[in-house]
Amino acid sequence: MLAGKENIKLLDSPQKIVITTHHKPDGDALGSSLGLGQWLRARGHDVSIIVSSDFPTFLDWMPGREEVLIFPQDPERYQKLFDDASLIFCLDYSVLSRTNILEPIIREAKGQKWMIDHHLDPEDFADLSYWDSNAAATAQLVYRFICEELNGHDTLNSDMATCLYTGIMTDTGSFRFKAANAEVHRIIADLIEIGVKNWEIHQNVYNSSTENRLKFLGYCLLNCLEVIPEYNTAIFALSKDDLQQFSITTGDTEGLVNYALSIKGIRLAGLFVDRTELIKLSLRSIGEIPCNEICKNHFNGGGHLNASGGSSTEDLLTVVKRFKEVLPQYKEILTA
Ligand code: 5GP
Ligand code: MN
Repeated sequence: MLAGKENIKLLDSPQKIVITTHHKPDGDALGSSLGLGQWLRARGHDVSIIVSSDFPTFLDWMPGREEVLIFPQDPERYQKLFDDASLIFCLDYSVLSRTNILEPIIREAKGQKWMIDHHLDPEDFADLSYWDSNAAATAQLVYRFICEELNGHDTLNSDMATCLYTGIMTDTGSFRFKAANAEVHRIIADLIEIGVKNWEIHQNVYNSSTENRLKFLGYCLLNCLEVIPEYNTAIFALSKDDLQQFSITTGDTEGLVNYALSIKGIRLAGLFVDRTELIKLSLRSIGEIPCNEICKNHFNGGGHLNASGGSSTEDLLTVVKRFKEVLPQYKEILTA
């Protein structure tokens, strides 16, 4: 699980570090980056967190959020940080293509690359990799890495713990998935002891909708949901027009796919969104239905068994049609 351990001694002296994570960072991407970043900074390292895009507004409250650098906002200055870095952390992604515009920059950077991640099929690019596809979240691995590999538990403070808690909470659907095992709950208990106000985090992340976003949810449930009973599947397909009507931005569709999965008997749920240049899709499933295989084989994506994503350059109706054509292959497990 830990490969390249000999490189860890690099952290014995102050380093110039850049932390990166995947495009359109989610709670785990941002939580693990901010948690690790603050811990490294407290140890005397010079740390920058650089991401390729904006992220959902429901993460705006996170401690240290104002320090996150969004690459397209000042590419020349941020390129220099990559050029000067002796160490680049790659958090919450296992293939460099998930960093979007940062991919060539990270590939060409001279500094060591350390990956901490829980996604399947890792690419072989890292000088050190702390990888466990059974982990519930990258934030869980960051906690373990700090405590077990860097002997740093005693210097975790409540801000760092808050960021790590948020990562684990969002990637486990508030501790409801199978991966939220006893170890995860022990870590959560420890983070609360360190000072996490868990009720405030739930409030900040889940009760921060605008009225508009809630109405958009109602609109989607009424107008964009299609149930395909013969395959125990339900999908949402959102056109550009649907998004424009409600001025939908990054993060506003987060969690929508779970409403399709919440219908009794539904085992596979999909969300198809007509974004500016691509159709982005998200799949969720229960049991053995392999969302990641469907995304990998048909939609240029991947992810976890029960939660994965992909994209397509075709139009919305064609992508939905293609998805429906895939379902017969999985009829047996969808209807088991
Ligand atoms: P979401 O549906 O929330 O966008 O993504 C769910 C999971 O699917 C993510 O945690 C990530 O593992 C994976 N994923 C999402 N989009 C992509 C993609 O375009 N390519 C790959 N390889 N994985 C993705
Ligand atoms: Mn994650």
